[in-house]
Amino acid sequence: MQTSRILESFGDEERRMETSLRPATLSEYVGQAEIKKNLQVYMQAAKNRGDALDHVILYGPPGLGKTTLAHIITREMEVNLKATSGPAIEKPGDLAAILSNLAEGDVFFIDEIHRLHPAIEEVLYPAMEDFKIDLIIGQGPSAKMLKLNIPHFTLVGATTRAGLLTSPLRDRFGVVCRLAFYRPEELEEIVLRSAHILQVSIDLPAAREIATRARGTPRIANHLLRRVRDFAEVQGSGYIDLSIAQNALTQMGIDGAGFDAMDRKLLLLLIEKYMGGPVGIDTLASAMSEERGTLEDVYEPYLIQGGYLDRTARGRIATEAAYRHFNRPFPHAVQPRLL
Ligand code: ADP
Repeated sequence: MQTSRILESFGDEERRMETSLRPATLSEYVGQAEIKKNLQVYMQAAKNRGDALDHVILYGPPGLGKTTLAHIITREMEVNLKATSGPAIEKPGDLAAILSNLAEGDVFFIDEIHRLHPAIEEVLYPAMEDFKIDLIIGQGPSAKMLKLNIPHFTLVGATTRAGLLTSPLRDRFGVVCRLAFYRPEELEEIVLRSAHILQVSIDLPAAREIATRARGTPRIANHLLRRVRDFAEVQGSGYIDLSIAQNALTQMGIDGAGFDAMDRKLLLLLIEKYMGGPVGIDTLASAMSEERGTLEDVYEPYLIQGGYLDRTARGRIATEAAYRHFNRPFPHAVQPRLL
C-alpha cells in the first residue's frame, strides 16, 4: 500500500485524535444539510413510536463522516453501538453471535459493507427484514435448522460506492444517505471547530486556505490543520496565519487545488504518457502501482467532481481543467477557423 497518501497513512495517534474531533450530535455535524434534516425526522418518528430506526446505508468516499454519523445516530437514539467491518465477519456464526447479543433498538454498524461474504449476506437478509436468523447446528444428516428471534436493531452500513452493493442487500435499507464532498466554507467551519478543540490559534484566512486545499474532506482538513500546527510551532510562534499555512501546505506537497503527490501523479501520467487518455482503469492502476479499487474509491471521486478527470466508456480522460492546472496546452482544443 502507498503511504504517501494522507487518507491511507493513519497511525494510532491520528485515530485517537480523530475520535476527539468527532462531532457528537447532529447539530455539531457540519454540512450535509439534507441528510441531517431527514435523519432528524426519521429518528424522531422512530422514537415516538418506540421503534428501532429503519436500517440506514451511508455512501461516500473515505473521510466524509460516515462512521461519525453512525455514532451520532446511536447517541441520538439513546442506544448502544456495535461496530465491525465487512471483511471482519468471517463465518455466519460470528454474525449470529453479534446479532443475538444486541439489545432492542441497538445500532449495528458495518463499515465496508460491500465486502461482506455472500454467505454472511444470506444470514443478514432475514435478520434485517424479520429480525430472525436461521442457524444450522451440527453437520451431515443430524444437522438441525434453528430459527432464532433477535432484537429489533438498526443496521447502519457504510460503503465507498453505491455500485458495489448487491441489489438484495441495497433493497433492504429504508434510509439511503449519499454523502457529498464538503464546500470550502463548511470545511472552514470544521477547521475552526477543530482548532478550538485542539486549542490552536488560527486566523480566518489561514482556516480558509486549509479548507480549500482539503479535497472536500473533513478528515483531510483535520489532518492538514494538525500538520500546519507543527510547522507553526517549529518555524514560528505557534500562531497560524495565512503565510504560515500557505508555506506549510506547500512544503507538504499540497498544491492550490488541494492535490497531493498521488493526484498529480495520476493526472500527469494521463497527460504525459497517454496523451490525455482514454486509458482503461486497470492500465492506470498498474502504471501507478495501486489497486484499482483504491483508485476508484479514494483518488478519482474528488478529481471527477472537481472536473479534472472524466470517466468514459472507453476509459479515463484528463479534462481541459487538468491541462490548465499543469499549464499544459490542451491537445483536443478546437482551433478557431481562419477566415
Ligand atoms: P468515514 O467513516 O466516512 O471515513 P469519519 O466519520 O471517520 O469518515 O470522519 C473522519 C473525521 O472527519 C472525523 O473524525 C471527524 O472529526 C471529521 N468529520 C467528518 N464529518 C464531519 C462533519 N460533518 N463535521 C465535522 N467533522 C466531521
